[in-house]
Parts: sequence; structure tokens; C-alpha cells
Amino acid sequence: VTSTLPIVQVGDPVLRARARPVTPAELASPELQTLIDQMRDTMRAAPGVGLAAPQIGQSIQLIVIEDPPKLHEGLTPAELRERERDAVPFHVLANPKLKRVGDSEVLAFEGCLSFAGFTMVVPRYRRVRVEGLDEHGKPVSIEAGGWYARILQHEVDHLRGVVCCDRMRSRTLMTADNFKRDWAGVPVPEVMKALDADRQL
Ligand code: ZN
Repeated sequence: VTSTLPIVQVGDPVLRARARPVTPAELASPELQTLIDQMRDTMRAAPGVGLAAPQIGQSIQLIVIEDPPKLHEGLTPAELRERERDAVPFHVLANPKLKRVGDSEVLAFEGCLSFAGFTMVVPRYRRVRVEGLDEHGKPVSIEAGGWYARILQHEVDHLRGVVCCDRMRSRTLMTADNFKRDWAGVPVPEVMKALDADRQL
């Protein structure tokens, strides 16, 4: 049985609020276990590689992440390499604390299920460490690089009321359709140059 929830869109105040932490007791409750199942089904149906509770209207520090190989089918090996994108199994993170590892940054196109139909270049740290709780309330520590590090930064931002458009290189904002038509497969540095994305207004 799958049950999906509506995904709220930019402009909804819940996406701009600071979400509150959850307690281990709350995590163990049937209500939150059901919510986790619903967030997983909603993420898979979208489809997306991550979903934060504020995106389904709940201002709590809860995230689900999954980047299955099925979602890589439309990408070339060169694109997967450029994005350093590997499969990530389904997992849950509550109350995450994120720190960068090193100061290397990467630019890549990124979208958000709460900013539907658009994509934009967003700078992210290449490696991060995240500490939090799993769905059983047990402490977990994750060190991640590449696309997984990007997903973590994107989802943890949602818990702080930050959306990827706050960090984007704004001249790269485009519809997903125009991205597919004109830019898919073009290396990001070339896109940046073609769009004059470093231009000072
Ligand atoms: Zn998002």
C-alpha cells in the first residue's frame, strides 16, 4: 500500500520556517512511523532523491533520502561521473547537524520538488559530514561526497527554511523543459559561460 502526500510549493510559509527537532520517543510513535512511510512513498512517486518534512507541511526535522539506480537511467556515464553520482539506499535522518569537510565547492544543476518544473545551478560543498538520528532514534554519522553530499545539503537546508533558489546562480534558472531541450549533457562550466552566469548586473 502506498500513500502519497501533497508537496507544498515555494510561497508556503512552512518552507521558510525553522523546523523543530523530534524526540526519540516521537520517532518511535506510530504517527511518525506512518509519516516516514508516507514521505518515502511521496518521494518515490514524485520521483525525487530526497524529501524534508516541511515539504509535506510538517515543520519537524525529518528527512528521507534515496537515490536508486533506476533514476540514473536517463543520464550518460559522463553525466554520472561529472555529478559524482552513485546509488544511495533509502534512509531516514532526524535532527541532522551538517558540517562541511574541506572547502571544495561544486556547481551543478539542481531542482526541488517544492519549486516544481524548474532547475538551476547551485554551488554546494563537495564533501560533508552529517550527524543525526535514524528512524529508530539511534545516532548516525554519515560522511558523503558528490551528489549524495548535495542531496544532504539540499534537504538539511529545508529544515532551516532555506530553498535552493536562495543559493542559486540566478542567471542559470530555467524550466526543466528548456534544460532538457538546450542544456542537458552540456558541462556546467560551458553552461555558465554561455549564460554569462558570472556577470555583474
Ligand atoms: Zn527541495
